[in-house]
Amino acid sequence: MSDKKAKSELKDTLFYNQKNGYDCIDVTERLELERYCEAYKAFLNDSRTEREAVRNAIAQAEEQGFVPFTPGMELRPGMKLYRSNRGKALLLAVVGDKPLSDGCTVAAAHVDAPRLDLKPLPLYEDGEMAYLKTHYYGGIKKYQWVTIPLELHGVVTLKSGENVDVVIGRDKDDPQLVITDLLIHLAADQMQKKASEVIPGENLNLLIGSVPYDGEDKDRVKLAVMSLLNDRYGITEEDFLSAEIEVVPGFDVRDVGLDRSLIGGYGHDDRVCAYAELKALFDMGTPELTAVCILADKEEIGSTGSTGMQSSAFECFMEDLCAAQGVELRRCLERSICISADVCNGYDPIYPEVHEKRNNAKLNYGVGICKYTGARGKSGTNDADAETVGLLRGIFADAGVVWQMAELGKVDQGGGGTVAVYMGRRNITTIDAGVPVLSMHAPFEVVAKFDCYMTYKAVKAVYQRKA
Ligand code: MN
Ligand code: MN
Repeated sequence: MSDKKAKSELKDTLFYNQKNGYDCIDVTERLELERYCEAYKAFLNDSRTEREAVRNAIAQAEEQGFVPFTPGMELRPGMKLYRSNRGKALLLAVVGDKPLSDGCTVAAAHVDAPRLDLKPLPLYEDGEMAYLKTHYYGGIKKYQWVTIPLELHGVVTLKSGENVDVVIGRDKDDPQLVITDLLIHLAADQMQKKASEVIPGENLNLLIGSVPYDGEDKDRVKLAVMSLLNDRYGITEEDFLSAEIEVVPGFDVRDVGLDRSLIGGYGHDDRVCAYAELKALFDMGTPELTAVCILADKEEIGSTGSTGMQSSAFECFMEDLCAAQGVELRRCLERSICISADVCNGYDPIYPEVHEKRNNAKLNYGVGICKYTGARGKSGTNDADAETVGLLRGIFADAGVVWQMAELGKVDQGGGGTVAVYMGRRNITTIDAGVPVLSMHAPFEVVAKFDCYMTYKAVKAVYQRKA
């Protein structure tokens, strides 16, 4: 053997070589990948709020034979259960062959996404135009939300307790809405401002009408708009007080790139992982260990509230499952594993300065395993242990999952968190895993189809792990 050949073989043996995902799959799997992504695109297109995502997830789950889980139900292996948490978060389980005292496998994604929420008293008129005032939700670059088509999605709860669904702008024939920006010709002062100040929060006001009601008194445009809303939904201005109406981008979910290898859309973070979990749960058969799938709310604002991952709604669900088998909840949790399925940042060659190339997830390199998130000295992270990463390595190797390590940019550049820290706090072995995203939190985020599919495959393989 020549020296050169020996050295190259030694390199192959000793070095860690990552390959582009498309070099790792065959034609059959490529077709499967395309099929999977078409279904995901449809789900994302119809799930623009956490409520819509939960509603669509329940509809799909019921088609798969899932039934509402009530306390006291007797559990049999293979049973498919779900519990809606106030219509804004969802817990599902497929009961395993082994008892819950052996632990379970949890996958936790979130279905809320950065957006603008209407204020409690949003409607006003100025300059003979009507507007809706908003308060943004989650981390956004405010300047990305002006001059793009926007839609309203949400609910109004009437005094009677009845909920009225509001959707404006989704139907092809329905009007869309917009937040205006200053014309460049008069933007001399604006252009000098810092990006965080270019669009002040109080300027995120949605243009909603311009034709006045008949007559001569003031607020005639506001009256005309309110009367249109009343015709359409039977609501009055006071009803906005008890409403949750979200302003979301009005773009359709579309293939991106001439090769159609990417998907552009609003809310990939984190509905792309939510869908992967759901589909994995539907496709895996009866697992050894009970599989639990969480679609959480409120992640983007700190997992707070009764529908966020800090809520004991999770314990409540798990305790009801455990009680059915006479198992103590803490015994179950301490032997459980959780995949905190959330997106990570994809390496963006246009902005190499913020990434650490060797440790950043790349598009088309598969599901990104994030040992730790956090910021500056790993502060606030779950930081999975070596054993957990090792366990996943084994599972993924056996299942043919293409995966990569992921880290959130350069050490001193910034950071972020997921629900992982709240799952770890519950004494569940937890690790982050998810799809690398470009333009995360922007109105039109980009993911690679290959990574979406591999995330599904990864979650499925973990659900099917041996006890
Ligand atoms: Mn996320
Ligand atoms: Mn996010």
